[in-house]
Amino acid sequence: MTNFRPMRRIRQLLDNEEAKEILASCTHGVLAVSGDNGYPYAVPMSYAFADGSLYFHSATEGHKVDALRSNAKASFSVVERDEIRPAEYTTYFRSAIAFGRVSIIEGDDEKMAALQLLGERYRPGHSADAHDEAAKSLNHVLILRFDIEHLTGKQAIELVNKTQRDK
Ligand SMILES: Cc1cc2nc3c(=O)[nH]c(=O)nc-3n(C[C@H](O)[C@H](O)[C@H](O)COP(=O)(O)OP(=O)(O)OC[C@H]3O[C@@H](n4cnc5c(N)ncnc54)[C@H](O)[C@@H]3O)c2cc1C
Repeated sequence: MTNFRPMRRIRQLLDNEEAKEILASCTHGVLAVSGDNGYPYAVPMSYAFADGSLYFHSATEGHKVDALRSNAKASFSVVERDEIRPAEYTTYFRSAIAFGRVSIIEGDDEKMAALQLLGERYRPGHSADAHDEAAKSLNHVLILRFDIEHLTGKQAIELVNKTQRDK
């Protein structure tokens, strides 16, 4: 069992449901993998979130896929809010970071389901189209499943204080 480190500014920690809501509401984030020559590779990606996992579609080759084939461990961060407050010299932010392992989905059924999920995410209400598009691309893309092992959400201290004042 991996020990993930705790947040230092614990008051800013969101509860798990709020962190999941951030993942469910955003449309892209940054996937960080162990890249070439010891350099971390942080690559922006669209995604869908379902049942505790993140799903990505990807080309069958490239830096990201090579990295994941040699080390499945990755992290993924999304920013839900980044509101600059110049007068306060700060930003009102909300974000989430997940750690986990990424596998390449091999089975056609699971791959198809993930492609449909992604299709629906980016074209809501067009499930028939999502099915057709998924069927067309099934053999040309990889689907990556990121199984989340550790998830945290964090918000700016000003938002924490505001929530407490509003209670
Ligand atoms: C908002 C957003 C959403 C995206 N959604 C997806 C998605 O759902 N699926 C998907 O496959 N791709 C997506 N992309 C593109 C993604 O960021 C990568 O460019 C793509 O996945 C190819 O990655 P690779 O490692 O195979 O590229 P490679 O061409 O193998 O990478 C080689 C080098 O090119 C450079 N590079 C690669 N990508 C980028 C980049 N985005 N910006 C600057 N330099 C780069 C890096 O130096 C990298 O080491 C998205 C990009 C953005 C900005």
